[in-house]
Amino acid sequence: MAVEMMRRREVPTESVIERLKARFGEQVSTATAVRDQHGKDESYHPIEAPDAVFFARSTEDVVEAVKLCAEFKVPVIPFGTGTSLEGHVAAREGGICIDLTQMDQVLRVSPEDLDCTVQPGVTRKQLNEYLRDTGLFFPIDPGANASIGGMTATRASGTNAVRYGTMRDNVLSLTAVLADGRIIKTASRARKSSAGYDLTRLFVGSEGTLGVITEITLKLYGIPEAISSAACSFPSIAAAVDTTILTIQAGIPVARIELLDEVQIAACNAYSKLDLKVAPTLFFEFHGTAAGVKEQAEMVAAFAEDNGGEGFKWTTSAEERSKLWQARHDAYYAGLSMRPGSQGWATDVCVPISNLAEAINETKKDLEKASMPVCLVGHVGDGNFHLCFILDPNKPEEFVEAGEINERMVKRALALDGTCTGEHGVGYGKIGFVEEEHGPATISVMREIKRALDPHNLMNPGKVIRIGANH
Ligand SMILES: Cc1cc2nc3c(=O)[nH]c(=O)nc-3n(C[C@H](O)[C@H](O)[C@H](O)COP(=O)(O)OP(=O)(O)OC[C@H]3O[C@@H](n4cnc5c(N)ncnc54)[C@H](O)[C@@H]3O)c2cc1C
Repeated sequence: MAVEMMRRREVPTESVIERLKARFGEQVSTATAVRDQHGKDESYHPIEAPDAVFFARSTEDVVEAVKLCAEFKVPVIPFGTGTSLEGHVAAREGGICIDLTQMDQVLRVSPEDLDCTVQPGVTRKQLNEYLRDTGLFFPIDPGANASIGGMTATRASGTNAVRYGTMRDNVLSLTAVLADGRIIKTASRARKSSAGYDLTRLFVGSEGTLGVITEITLKLYGIPEAISSAACSFPSIAAAVDTTILTIQAGIPVARIELLDEVQIAACNAYSKLDLKVAPTLFFEFHGTAAGVKEQAEMVAAFAEDNGGEGFKWTTSAEERSKLWQARHDAYYAGLSMRPGSQGWATDVCVPISNLAEAINETKKDLEKASMPVCLVGHVGDGNFHLCFILDPNKPEEFVEAGEINERMVKRALALDGTCTGEHGVGYGKIGFVEEEHGPATISVMREIKRALDPHNLMNPGKVIRIGANH
């Protein structure tokens, strides 16, 4: 596949590496395997390795490394767990990757305030493990076990967002190291504030292009008294989507409502040993009191029945629930296992809920002609859905075809007042679509913000927005 290659900067990166090694020793690696692992995310985008990887252990370590890079004008690429999907961590112009995985401490938890502060390398599963005995949990759950720093930087969400929001709604405050080495804290722990520009939200979703996030204060939630799950199959994708729209418009506070098309269900049955009917299917989860979840499930079951839904079965068994949701979280890998040796290309869009039926139905029609398997899944309660193309890495023509389908899906979403990405982010894979979505005036403001905070374009260059001739 043709990849637009970036020009590596002609800067004295070697000097930075030497000084980092002299100061930090084994925290710096130039081993090819380590560099390659840090120059690629989980997507189809090729490896673009950084010149070295620096394993930071504290905010002060990050400050020292960033200041050194600033002095020599060397690019800096922050790295969480590398599960992003749009080429986010590719070192497009070379430079130093700052790996945050060793900053993995939960710094404080306040059960009385329902919040906590963590270092960026803490993963979402690690945080929930840590919280287990407190009766609290952190709900944002991208399919991968991503780092909280990476999730903050990509404004991630997942299956629970319809009830609990995305990282945008759940980060109260953060600490970031700017391109010149300054440390800023964006807000206090107050649940609301009208004090000044909202820098927290500026950094949430900035994908490492404005600074390195080194601490994050998050909202937490009480584990609900009762949780129930259900799965229901439908005669058509349209019927499943209509049930979703009715559920949301009726104000039923579902915690999760996930669509899996028939291709994805077949893959999940084989990979996760399920025996679901091979048909478009919705997975639901309800949180609340025992009476509340029963009532919610009954109301949704009625909507499903009106739309021809079959076999709506709900359960409060923790074991059955976890089997269902594990299968959902493994959907990407289930898709890949349909075609051994395949390469996945996962892409997402999001539209207002009233436009969801049109966006999905048209996309499904488009897929009828596709020459490779494509799974459609969606956090449909938010109007968000994904395609995962299962590609043969030896057939470049499949990548071209996937790109064309992706482009048509994005353009459809934009025409329906939606966005080119609901949660995966931009990286460099969607950089052109972001310009189309926002238009020149808004993009010019984004550029001015970027230039004000990072005048030499050192922070993860080539991502989110194009800045200069080299992008
Ligand atoms: C199977 C699978 C399922 C997925 N499902 C979902 C999903 O449901 N919802 C969803 O939102 N995403 C999903 N994703 C995408 C991915 O998990 C998220 O984008 C996640 O937030 C990335 O976190 P990470 O720690 O892996 O970050 P990385 O991939 O390491 O980095 C992502 C970006 O954030 C920047 N970054 C990382 N850490 C920092 C930091 N401390 N400071 C500043 N910048 C930083 C990087 O420079 C990069 O630009 C999925 C991915 C996979 C592979």
